[in-house]
Amino acid sequence: MYEYTEVAPFKYALSIDNHEEIVSALLAFCKDNEIYAGSVSGIGAVSEATFRFLDPATMKYVDRTFTEQMEITNLIGNISIKDGEPYLHIHITASRSDYSCIGGHLLSARINGACELIVEDFFDGYIGRETDPETGINLFKF
Ligand code: FE
Repeated sequence: MYEYTEVAPFKYALSIDNHEEIVSALLAFCKDNEIYAGSVSGIGAVSEATFRFLDPATMKYVDRTFTEQMEITNLIGNISIKDGEPYLHIHITASRSDYSCIGGHLLSARINGACELIVEDFFDGYIGRETDPETGINLFKF
């Protein structure tokens, strides 16, 4: 599913295998390495991706899947802990064949080419996350 190396203490270079789904592979990496607080950044290429937009007027999530080859021009996010499990909050910008960009929350993305991530494990740090009862959004809870 992935290969990785610890390039510096608590800092990992992670290469997810071609045709894998990024979010589930990254979550598996966090669980395998017991990472519950940290940051992630990355680049790569995908053939299909589902992005999420939160409409503040309705407080409803709108999800949309794009099936086309795109470069991940920026993937950035954080790792926290919710209900005892690693929780990913990731945003993505991806460029299309006409060089325009689209983006949003990253729900899932199928790699077609490569996906190179840098993960920093905050190790002893604690970043909790809980569902805010007023908005229904999962927020940091320290
Ligand atoms: Fe977000």
